[in-house]
Amino acid sequence: MRILVCPVCKSTNVEMDAGGYTGKYHCKKCGYVGSLILEMDEGELREIIEAEKLKDKDAKNL
Ligand SMILES: [Zn+2]
Repeated sequence: MRILVCPVCKSTNVEMDAGGYTGKYHCKKCGYVGSLILEMDEGELREIIEAEKLKDKDAKNL
């Protein structure tokens, strides 16, 4: 099963915009609307989330 992930905020709170009519996606978390979306399985998603966490940590250390 593929999970839709927002390319901006990495949220999985994403759905087809206008019921799929426009072919675009809508992120309910950050408000992103666009045809570019990340599709991944659970394992890949976990890696992305871990990578984002590390990035946050690095940013704080700078
Ligand atoms: Zn988003």
